[in-house]
Amino acid sequence: MVASPSRTETAAAAETYGNYIAGEWRPAASGATMENRSPADRDELVGHFAASGREDVEAAIAAADEAFRTWRLTSPIARANFLHKAANILEARIPDVGRELTREEGKTLKEGIGETTRAVQILRYFAGEAQQPSGEHYPSANPQTLLYTVREPLGVVAIITPWNFPIAIPAWKIAPALAFGNTVVFKPASLTPLTAVRLVEALAEAGLPAGVLNLVTGSAAEVGDLLTNDPRVVAISFTGSNAVGAELRQTAAKRGAKLQLELGGKNPAIVLADADLDHALGQVVAGAMMSTGQKCTATSRAIVDRRIADRFTDMLAERIGSLKVGNPLQADVQIGPLIDEPAAERVASEVAAASQAGASLLVGGDRLGGDLGRGAFVAPALLGEVAADSRLGQEELFGPVLGVIPVDGLDEAIAVANGVRFGLSASLFTRDLGRALAFAQQIEAGVVHVNSETAGAEPQVPFGGMKGSSSYSREQGKAARDFFTQSKTVYIDPPPAQA
Ligand code: NAP
Repeated sequence: MVASPSRTETAAAAETYGNYIAGEWRPAASGATMENRSPADRDELVGHFAASGREDVEAAIAAADEAFRTWRLTSPIARANFLHKAANILEARIPDVGRELTREEGKTLKEGIGETTRAVQILRYFAGEAQQPSGEHYPSANPQTLLYTVREPLGVVAIITPWNFPIAIPAWKIAPALAFGNTVVFKPASLTPLTAVRLVEALAEAGLPAGVLNLVTGSAAEVGDLLTNDPRVVAISFTGSNAVGAELRQTAAKRGAKLQLELGGKNPAIVLADADLDHALGQVVAGAMMSTGQKCTATSRAIVDRRIADRFTDMLAERIGSLKVGNPLQADVQIGPLIDEPAAERVASEVAAASQAGASLLVGGDRLGGDLGRGAFVAPALLGEVAADSRLGQEELFGPVLGVIPVDGLDEAIAVANGVRFGLSASLFTRDLGRALAFAQQIEAGVVHVNSETAGAEPQVPFGGMKGSSSYSREQGKAARDFFTQSKTVYIDPPPAQA
């Protein structure tokens, strides 16, 4: 039996962490483990984690199924209290958990701490949401009838998350799932299991009853199908790639499971000639490069009015070329590594291919050596004169790469922005209110910004994409209740009067 990973154990470089099933931390039934290494330095071992298989998935689903019988009947106020307690526990650990997140995922320390802080805010937000009204009262044709609707939980929910927001995304799925009375089997990305352990620890220590939340680490090849095909799992909330999303669509459709998909993006920032270019510069570079460009909402296309395209491109090249790349735990570093070696190789070769295909490589794109040679580092890249229909103009690269597409005015800019299969987020930079309103109306994106970067999501508003970026559902805000509950309509008539 693996002990619950404790705060003191985290100081050690390479602890072994178990699954959390039926209220216990335990190793994989097979005893197998998988190792996790820092993307900033492959010699740095983050930890060993349970490499789960059939028995573990089965135990987790069985525990969640059993726990649902009572959890669904608990008061939403009690559920809110668990989330509040978990938020307080996690809040006290923000510096440690944020640092571990950075070590494991590679975003800067500021971002690691920021994301952990955000997870605390999300837990608190959904503690509040649990206490909001969850149904409606209706008039009936029969004046005696009490007619109302109530939102009820779904049952056992599978939550499958990516590595790029290893605590915020699990928090914004798990918190509403629990708040609204579901039980959870959580399978985090294999590249970021430690952050998942830390989130589950906070919720477990808050006193959640056994089986309400279960964590199963391990590769998708071993556990993915077992989890998503099990008929006891009535809903799947997934964030990740379009390729896996497409598979899950089929899996869920075949057996009628409720499905929520949040997928990739190819997010545009349109810069018009009347924009405040210094402001636009800071926002576009932040949107493209923070978190090493590995946000689903990252800016990957700067669609720039031709009248200012050369000037703005020069400004971009200078700023991007001066970004400090390095060990993300160092305070002055702005850009950390990509998530792993294959990702770094892929991004470097995509940049080279785009340059060969006709775009002009203005800065970056090379693998970095020296001290950074043991990590997955690529110099942030800017490419100019990118063709809107080229691979770089169409496909998500998921790295620190920005392409500039010159256009003639707002109409062409919107047509180019909309001319991709994705529709997650989009920005416009202008001083013209009329153009801002036209953009907000015509852009095909689930999250729209005017004069701010494409990334960023506050917990109280819906989040999600249009077209290929999502499955039409939304996460966070009041929208979370739509996915994690179902509606029941109740007619109550008085019994006939007794003679
Ligand atoms: P991914 O490869 O699709 O993996 C996401 C999660 O799914 C991981 O936990 C993975 O497990 C699991 N998985 C893989 N194959 C599976 C299968 N057949 N059945 C069940 N689970 C399976 O995506 P990623 O590389 O981690 O994340 C990057 C992608 O996520 C990008 O496209 C990005 O745009 C997107 N994203 C979207 C949003 C949004 O809100 N729209 C937010 C963040 C990221 P393993 O780790 O074990 O493979």
